Amino acid sequence: MIDTHAHIHDPAFDVDRDAMLARARAAGVTRIITIGTDVGDSARAQAAAARYDLDYAIGIHPHEAKDAPPDVGAAFGALIAAGERPPRAIGEMGLDYFYDHSPRDVQRDVLVKGLRFARERNLPAIFHQRDAFDDFVATVAEHGADIRGVVHCFTGDTEQAKRLTGEFGFKLGIGGVSTFKNAGALRDAIVAVGLDHVILETDCPYLAPIPHRGARNEPAYMQSTAEKLATLFGVPQDEIDARTSANAIALFGD
Ligand SMILES: [Zn+2]
Ligand SMILES: [Zn+2]
Repeated sequence: MIDTHAHIHDPAFDVDRDAMLARARAAGVTRIITIGTDVGDSARAQAAAARYDLDYAIGIHPHEAKDAPPDVGAAFGALIAAGERPPRAIGEMGLDYFYDHSPRDVQRDVLVKGLRFARERNLPAIFHQRDAFDDFVATVAEHGADIRGVVHCFTGDTEQAKRLTGEFGFKLGIGGVSTFKNAGALRDAIVAVGLDHVILETDCPYLAPIPHRGARNEPAYMQSTAEKLATLFGVPQDEIDARTSANAIALFGD
């Protein structure tokens, strides 16, 4: 299994990062992408990736858009130049109108800059979208129609899932929320688009799946999400592992 969206460098793991990564390996997690949420956090993701042999992505989360440097591309370029190995993707980036921690016009501006940089570097995008679907698809259609990417922590309905996978060719990042009791519409959406469009993630330390809901999340718990998908599709868990891993490799490289 590949955890395509984790925050391994988060201080929540300072107490037991080595043990947590050992549990991930024991649970069958073969690869982890640790995701940056602003320029400083992306540098920490890069450092953690080098130290623990992980993959990483650099980006500016919509919550942090208000503090983005004026020249986002230059900041990302400098970060990449300073590292030993390149990031696997640009993100997370996107729009979050649920929390509105940054003004919406600023969120859109920073998303456009991220899309531009991802296209320049020919890297896939990792999108965060919450309560901003219409603006999100409009912005991506205008500034990144040809870009490859994943809408991480997808929690939408069937219509949204079909648009993102069909019109844009994006993958859906599926994590702990898919195991929640009240997530019937999300499970319907996942079945409607099919396994070819799904990759697994934890978004740890957030959003632990049932039976760990409410606890600090970690990659080892991704097994619970994979189990849920196996039940949902009526296939062995091995097949969930193989197909979602193949999708992740197609997107991020091997
Ligand atoms: Zn996110
Ligand atoms: Zn995240």
